[in-house]
Amino acid sequence: MPRLASWVKGANEPDTDFPLDNLPCGVFSVNGGKPRCGVAIGEMVLDVSAAEEAGVLRPAEAPVFDVPFWNGFMELGPEIWAAFRSALMQALAESSPQRPELEPFLVPMSTAAMHMPFAVAEFTDFYAGRNHAFNVGSMFRGPENALPPNWLHMPIGYNGRASSVVVSGTDIRRPWGQLKSPDHDMPAFLPSRRFDFELEMGAVVGQPSQGPVSVAEADEMIFGYVLLNDWSARDIQAWEYQPLGPFQAKATATTISPWIVTKAALEPFRTSTPEREKPLLPYLREPGPMLYDIALEAALAPAGRPETVITRTNYAEMYYSAPQQLAHHTVSGCPMRVGDLLGSGTVSGKTRPERGSLLELSWGGKEPLTLEGGESRSFLEDGDTLVLRGHARGDGYRIGFGEARGTVLPAIDKPGWA
Ligand code: CA
Repeated sequence: MPRLASWVKGANEPDTDFPLDNLPCGVFSVNGGKPRCGVAIGEMVLDVSAAEEAGVLRPAEAPVFDVPFWNGFMELGPEIWAAFRSALMQALAESSPQRPELEPFLVPMSTAAMHMPFAVAEFTDFYAGRNHAFNVGSMFRGPENALPPNWLHMPIGYNGRASSVVVSGTDIRRPWGQLKSPDHDMPAFLPSRRFDFELEMGAVVGQPSQGPVSVAEADEMIFGYVLLNDWSARDIQAWEYQPLGPFQAKATATTISPWIVTKAALEPFRTSTPEREKPLLPYLREPGPMLYDIALEAALAPAGRPETVITRTNYAEMYYSAPQQLAHHTVSGCPMRVGDLLGSGTVSGKTRPERGSLLELSWGGKEPLTLEGGESRSFLEDGDTLVLRGHARGDGYRIGFGEARGTVLPAIDKPGWA
């Protein structure tokens, strides 16, 4: 039994991603209709846009679910987030007298097409997993220089592209780019041959800031978390990344899971970042546990073939938490906006089966993986589908994220390029 029982179909199954304790926020449509805001529960989606329009749910005086993204609701702030969650939990709890009012607004999840849950204001991607940074650094610069000198002092990041953040299920087109060619004076211009995924978590900023914020204030600003796949062209990255970091290698697409799991739902799963190897400057010190115990996995399925789980890891492996990243982001005075998305950085554990990218799993292509169907992979091939999944496990229930899924399509055929 989940910790809290609900009258909604499927919500009390021990392995559902969406028990009453979760109530994640998404945007869905049915039969090609208008996208609307919804909350996942069991096998159903509660159409909060329709419920608000009918006056059954009313998080604020003015409507906030009349648009197909959660930004307006996020703007209302932590007190309203808590009040709305509490109202939903009461209304959806077993033997709630509100069942007849709410029941007409439930839609089977199997009929729902998912859309982006929020309008991404800006996207910043960090590099905050120590094992990943060490592995990649070892391959690019050797184990002695694997961690750059700044790494243990601050969460390193780069400003990414909000325009290419897409929801799970969106196909991903293999990018073209400049590739270093060691035997020639000129780089080659080709479709990426080392196209990869990165298993990450994304933090969704729900409150704006002007000026620097503390780690505690940053935690208050975060609305929730999603799974995030930072698709990466390793060969484009290797040629372009010095001196300003990744650019086109990371710009093709970033896939997120369709449900924002709220910070409130994750509260029982808080855990601390690992012991500091060097003391942090005061502005980065955490007043309490800021990471979460979330089991993560990635699965790969070649076209028409069964999937193989290629890695299993945990968000608790990160060296820096999202509130630390957010606090660091603001020290320059950089304002943060509602709908800002922060990528955690690749989540890799210490051992090989816990590595969060093919670059690490195949060690730069030197140790290809064998999939369950017998196929071999160093990097992603056309037609491959990559799926991220994750959940926090409680006593008899779990708080799930659903999936972040994408299929790699062949590079475009542009006249004059080849
Ligand atoms: Ca990344």
